[in-house]
Amino acid sequence: MADTPPRTGTPAPPGPTGSPDTDLLVIGGGPAGCAAVRMAASVGMRSVLVEPRALCHTLHRIPALDNVLGGHTGGPRLAEAVAAEVAGTDLCHLLLGHRVSALHVTGDHVTATLDTGARLSAPYAVVATGVGPRRPRDTAWVTAPDGPVPPPLWEADAARAEGRTLLVLGGDRPIGTFLRAHPAARTRLVVAYPAADAYKTEEIREDPRVTLLPVEHLTVRGGAGAPVAAEAVG
Ligand SMILES: Cc1cc2nc3c(=O)[nH]c(=O)nc-3n(C[C@H](O)[C@H](O)[C@H](O)COP(=O)(O)OP(=O)(O)OC[C@H]3O[C@@H](n4cnc5c(N)ncnc54)[C@H](O)[C@@H]3O)c2cc1C
Repeated sequence: MADTPPRTGTPAPPGPTGSPDTDLLVIGGGPAGCAAVRMAASVGMRSVLVEPRALCHTLHRIPALDNVLGGHTGGPRLAEAVAAEVAGTDLCHLLLGHRVSALHVTGDHVTATLDTGARLSAPYAVVATGVGPRRPRDTAWVTAPDGPVPPPLWEADAARAEGRTLLVLGGDRPIGTFLRAHPAARTRLVVAYPAADAYKTEEIREDPRVTLLPVEHLTVRGGAGAPVAAEAVG
């Protein structure tokens, strides 16, 4: 991943009791957090954006995009454009290299505690920390052995997956990204998904490399070096 190194900043010292450090705290510097600080600045609000890594680093996982305005077709270019816009936003103070470990609401303000123990307060906060991959044991529709957690599809090595069949658990967006990013790959994806994921499978439904398998429950066996077998119900 081509992250730029985090720029660290020293948090402003907590203001005197009742005195906020800024107008808006934004936790997370992905596209949602960056949009929040731009919108805040446009109505004259000062903001502090806290992000442990680089702005929009998640977008570096998306080699092929087709649902973003502005003509962007790749995540890294979009990340650069968003980061440049935020860096040029005078009313936004960036705190890169820091993570918020706790948020407390007291009276009419929110206090964020950083991993350093420093605290910041503001009348408003936006939590924009995104989502991450779920483990099979976190989902009600999959039973899987304890042990190594299967990697998310976006970490699959396309060269190693060439000519093979991958069992994909869940019908989420990264499947479309994988297929768009590797249009010539002869990898077959068997996508087992619960009813709640059905709407997300539309963009991959016509791809001949995909076999969709709607399931009520899936029991996975094997793994950890052995071939995986799965028994589907529904
Ligand atoms: C492989 C892949 C392909 C995808 N393809 C598409 C696509 O084609 N189109 C699409 O629209 N979406 C796609 N997505 C989803 C995409 O990631 C999201 O749309 C987008 O990144 C969501 O933005 P966000 O700001 O909500 O969250 P994120 O981009 O995840 O940003 C959240 C940020 O919060 C930070 N953070 C987390 N915890 C803390 C904390 N405690 N304190 C401070 N900061 C914290 C993280 O470091 C991160 O930078 C894809 C995702 C993946 C993984």
